[in-house]
Amino acid sequence: MVLTHAHPDHIQGLLYIADNFKVGEFWESRPAMDDSENYRNLRAIIDKRKIPVREIHASDHQMDIGGARLEFLWPEADSSNQYPDLNQRSLVFRLVYEKGAVLFTGDIGMEVEKRLFAHKGQQSNVLKVPHHGSRYSSSPEFLHWASPEIALISAGYGNSFHLPAEQTLARLKEKHVEVYRTDLNGTIRLIYDEGKGKFIARRQNWHFN
Ligand SMILES: [Zn+2]
Repeated sequence: MVLTHAHPDHIQGLLYIADNFKVGEFWESRPAMDDSENYRNLRAIIDKRKIPVREIHASDHQMDIGGARLEFLWPEADSSNQYPDLNQRSLVFRLVYEKGAVLFTGDIGMEVEKRLFAHKGQQSNVLKVPHHGSRYSSSPEFLHWASPEIALISAGYGNSFHLPAEQTLARLKEKHVEVYRTDLNGTIRLIYDEGKGKFIARRQNWHFN
């Protein structure tokens, strides 16, 4: 179970998962630097269930889990002074399985996106779009670097921030990226297609009356 950063919209779902699912390890960005009630509640469940905690940053070695490889790209160890905003310290990692790859980006913005360009050869066929599709993330240069075919956007239906932003959707459209949104499509499942040699996405459409 991974907490990219300790903001409430990322913690609250994990409270249920930590309490009700079998969790092998809990991973978070180092240091979490959060003392909110949500975070304390999460850590209390993790302690109670004796779930091992691992603090991750970019210099950690890649890890092999169940045939997949996880590569850690961000945050760098010394970046907490430079980026006090928790969003910018989101854990960014790439999950590689056979010929497919998924890039997880938390809520990073364009400044941190640029820092990722130092990692070459990071094409990922699926991108978890940063920061719920904010227009201050997903720069054209970043989309070129990640070069996804599929974009996943996590956003609440009718959310007051009006995310995902029109600008982000336009940038994805320009790159001919297929977009899946939790606000419109519900749960999105990724399945590795052996024949195609890449991940494909499946919608579970919700119907609003
Ligand atoms: Zn968020």
